[in-house]
Formats: sequence, structure tokens, C-alpha cells
Amino acid sequence: MTVRTIITAENPLLREKSKKVTQFGAGLQTLVQDLWDTLYAAGGLGLAAPQIGVLQRVWVIEMPAEQDEDGNEIEPLRRYVIVNPEIVKRRGEEEVTEGCLSVPGYRGLVKRATDVLIKGQDLHGKPVRYRGQDLLAQAFQHETDHLNGVLYLDLLVSPDKLWAVQPGDAEADEPAE
Ligand SMILES: [Zn+2]
Repeated sequence: MTVRTIITAENPLLREKSKKVTQFGAGLQTLVQDLWDTLYAAGGLGLAAPQIGVLQRVWVIEMPAEQDEDGNEIEPLRRYVIVNPEIVKRRGEEEVTEGCLSVPGYRGLVKRATDVLIKGQDLHGKPVRYRGQDLLAQAFQHETDHLNGVLYLDLLVSPDKLWAVQPGDAEADEPAE
């Protein structure tokens, strides 16, 4: 288990375009395990390889289980890992609050598609497709942006729609990506 350091917005690596993964061997498995370990340690929703300083096109997302008001599980916990992701369809649009593990202490308002279809490969190179709506669609877009050197800071609906959050604020507890 290796928890890696999450680099932050001032690091120029986050502005690079990541390289397509062509080797689906042990190195990729280790990288993805490190992404999971680092994501769990940080308590976030998703993490892309460039956020640990590795310019490879891969990210992981964990959607927490959802419960109704009686505590019954309506959605189980879902984990996604994708290599060489590409967004093939976007539908709908909404303004959503977003946070990034590489921009600690802030939240901002961005516009995101509400329904997204992505395709890519699994850890063995086999083609996969995922469809995501709402928060999951937002995470698909956020993490894929990281692979292209884009941060949510670039997508704010207006420059004043970025604000600091303090640890312990309800908003600061919302998982970042
Ligand atoms: Zn992020």
C-alpha cells in the first residue's frame, strides 16, 4: 500500500496532457493501486494519475453508497477505473459545486453535462463503456479533464464563483475529486 503525495494547482505537471497508456502490465496495476490508496487516505470521490504526478491517462472514482431517509441502501458503493477514457456523449447541463483534491480548501461553481457516456479500457486493455448521470457524470468529466491539463478553476461560471471553505464546514466535508 502506497499513499502518494497529491500535487496541487501550482505544480505545472497538472497542466500537461497525459500520455496514452499502452502497457497493461504490473506497472499499471501498481499505479492504480496507488491511486486507490491515495484516494482513500484523502477521503475523496475520484483521483486522476496526474494528481500524483504521473502523466498517464488513467483515473479512479468511488461513488459512495446511497441510502434513503429510512437508511435502506438504494445504490451500493460503486468503483470505476478507466484507462484512456474518452467522453463520447454529453447531454444536459447544470451548474454544480465542485472541489478538487489538488485545490485544497476551495469550492467553485462550474457548468457540467448531466449525462455522460465514456469509453476506454479496463486494466487489461479490454474496451469498456460507462454511463454516468449527475454526480457520477460530473466526476467523469472532472477526472478526464485532469488528463488534458484542465482544472475546474478554468471552468468557473464566473471568476467570483470560487470560495474558500474551512475544515468542518458542511461544504468542506463534501468529497473532492
Ligand atoms: Zn481534481
